[in-house]
Amino acid sequence: MGTKKTAGAGRSAGTGPEHGVSRRGLLIGAAVTAVGTAALAREKLEHAWWRLPGVEKPRKPGELDYARAQWTAASPANWRRADRPADYAIDRVVIHVTQGSFRGAVRVFQDPGHGAAAHYVVRKDGHVTQMIRELDVAFHAGNKSYNERSVGIEHEGFVDRPKDFTAAMYEASARLSAAICGRYRIPVDRTHIIGHVEVPGTDHTDPGPHWDWDRYIELVRAAGAR
Ligand SMILES: [Zn+2]
Repeated sequence: MGTKKTAGAGRSAGTGPEHGVSRRGLLIGAAVTAVGTAALAREKLEHAWWRLPGVEKPRKPGELDYARAQWTAASPANWRRADRPADYAIDRVVIHVTQGSFRGAVRVFQDPGHGAAAHYVVRKDGHVTQMIRELDVAFHAGNKSYNERSVGIEHEGFVDRPKDFTAAMYEASARLSAAICGRYRIPVDRTHIIGHVEVPGTDHTDPGPHWDWDRYIELVRAAGAR
């Protein structure tokens, strides 16, 4: 994008009657671009130091962050490699509802064309699948900084069907949330465990009005205390 902009300004500088203005615009543009590029390079280096030889943490295929989960890899197109919490602090858990079946959610998270996926999917019977490592940034919140700072948990079901939110699902998800909060020292409260609906700028409504937050937070606290 930067390259394209500079080329356009260059053409008008040479031909138009506002030669001086365009040239100044071009110079300012070039300076801004240079500063922007340097900042971008710095940011890239800061958040990609693990790409340097010898510093990457060892990763094993199928490795889990949560021992009770079963691993099924999401498509790499639906997440971004990172080294959290070293590069991005993790201070949020984001609760989602799939608006479909467990199998359907796993399938779309494996689809490189889907463009989104969460770290975990919890089934109605309490089974937990992990699809993305917590080290990595999953595209689940629809907000770059919230993706970078959070772990996303999907729950099988529909927002308008309260019976989908089974006791087994609440229990299993709460144990998982408690483990995540324990790992990153995230306070167990409604500021730090939020619904997708509470992510700034989102147009998603999940987990919806039937998700029992009081019950859930209580279960997370109880699981964390055990
Ligand atoms: Zn969601």
